[in-house]
Amino acid sequence: MLKKIDHLGIAVHSIAEARKFYENILGLTCEKEEEIASQKVRTAFFVLGETHIELLEPTSDDSPIAGFLQKRGEGLHHVAYQSSNIEKELANAKEQGCKLIHETPFTGAGNKQVAFLHPKSSHGLLTEFCSEVKQ
Ligand code: ZN
Repeated sequence: MLKKIDHLGIAVHSIAEARKFYENILGLTCEKEEEIASQKVRTAFFVLGETHIELLEPTSDDSPIAGFLQKRGEGLHHVAYQSSNIEKELANAKEQGCKLIHETPFTGAGNKQVAFLHPKSSHGLLTEFCSEVKQ
């Protein structure tokens, strides 16, 4: 079952540049910065009440985020829903004919278990499931 929007992922060219907006203009606090080597991305999480804003910066030219920036520019990259059971969400999505990017969850930012649905199956917006606990 989905619990809430865990975070919004926003693709940026430079976290160092973009964080000025989130800190100085929106007044948010950066909780942590982290590099996810397997995804070739650096992330920065900003706290906003119950949810977070995740900035994503590519760490290499063949990063999926680099491809996104080239095609669509900076902006909303994905929405992440917190789930109590990712495996179940994935199984259900697959059963309904939804294309999955990940058949099984992997360890993403903040040590969360995460998995993505293909944007072609979710009306243009990349969809992430994530959970606090390892399953
Ligand atoms: Zn995310």
